[in-house]
Amino acid sequence: MSKNPKSIKWRPATVAIHGTGKIKKAYHAVSTPIVQTSNYSFDSTSEVLEFMKAKAQGRIIREHEYGRYFNPTQQEVERKLAAIEGAERAITFSSGMSALILTVLAYVKKGGHVVFTSDCYRQTRDFANNWLTKFGIESTFVDPTADAIEQAIRPNTNLIFTELPTNPFLRVIDLAAVVKVAKKHKLLTVVDPTLATPYNIKPLEIGVDIVIHSATKYLGGHNDLVGGVALGKHALLEDLNKLERMVGATPGPHTCFLLERGLKTFGLRMEHHNRAGLTVAKFLESHPKVEKVWYPGLKSHPDYRVAKKQMRGCASVISILVKGNNKATCRFIDALDLFLITPSLGGSESLVTQMAVMSFFDYTPEFRKKLGITDNLVRLALGLEDVEDLIADLDQALSKV
Ligand code: PLP
Repeated sequence: MSKNPKSIKWRPATVAIHGTGKIKKAYHAVSTPIVQTSNYSFDSTSEVLEFMKAKAQGRIIREHEYGRYFNPTQQEVERKLAAIEGAERAITFSSGMSALILTVLAYVKKGGHVVFTSDCYRQTRDFANNWLTKFGIESTFVDPTADAIEQAIRPNTNLIFTELPTNPFLRVIDLAAVVKVAKKHKLLTVVDPTLATPYNIKPLEIGVDIVIHSATKYLGGHNDLVGGVALGKHALLEDLNKLERMVGATPGPHTCFLLERGLKTFGLRMEHHNRAGLTVAKFLESHPKVEKVWYPGLKSHPDYRVAKKQMRGCASVISILVKGNNKATCRFIDALDLFLITPSLGGSESLVTQMAVMSFFDYTPEFRKKLGITDNLVRLALGLEDVEDLIADLDQALSKV
């Protein structure tokens, strides 16, 4: 795989382009070819027989067999994602949610219990509450702190799942403390650092077992693909790999090409996102039409110290409370020229979400209140535009509040 052991010392932007080193691609292509096929043929029955015998003995004499299992474009991007994260292995998925759901299903035990941290992606909560329960698996949602996690542990707990930063309040949990708790109680830790990316934190280096990303966000980086990835130790991920191959949650070759292409600018983009995030957060914090700002790079954020200790930067998702009611908040959003109204993040275009209207619309007002989702809560996900233009746009739109 790697022809250049020196690559271990490469910096993040270089790894995002070269992975672990030179790999000879088909036709000597520089970019990764899209291998658009669902099947891989054999030359003869004896070749099939040889392949099947080797497979039964756990030997791989040829990798490609059937498109649901994996494809060459996917393997290429997986090698690169593993190198970026510093993982032994990466498994890509058709979405962040399929990575997340299949990981929980692969590792939770019969009659088990999962400790999730609250303020999480809403679909993660819904999966736990509406689907895991069907299989008799219980979940507890706690504040994103190691102490709260430890208090929620039961005899049947076997998995801890946390986001970093959380969504939408961008809480940053102390991962070293979580790992300590997990090791003490012999639990598996799964972390979703989609909003941080491996540019800003590498949870596996801190001792986390499995990392999950929605590759739809910063990894893909262009608002043009849906994908996911799980990363960790080779042996540990084997069960997850088997489950994915059975389900067929594999991403298509074209998606893998787009993801691998997006990763070539990962270092550049994350530098921009980190700088833009902090600059815009500071601007918003000083703005008279903004009541409150959540951004872990700001001293006012409750987890500023933890973020500073364990993260290189805080990327570019910022949550704010607009000073005004629902109507005033809508006026602000509708006046924005550069921010598209859509509930994602991490791409080239800036995006804006009024949480109560979009992501949390079908929750009851009482439950929204419990989660802190007020009508004037807005999540901004900065893109790659010039920061000065973003600030000017936010300023003119806030004047409509
Ligand atoms: N995890 C987090 C933190 C997310 O924000 C999202 C989506 O917004 C997901 C997982 C799910 O990813 P996908 O939309 O790629 O399925």
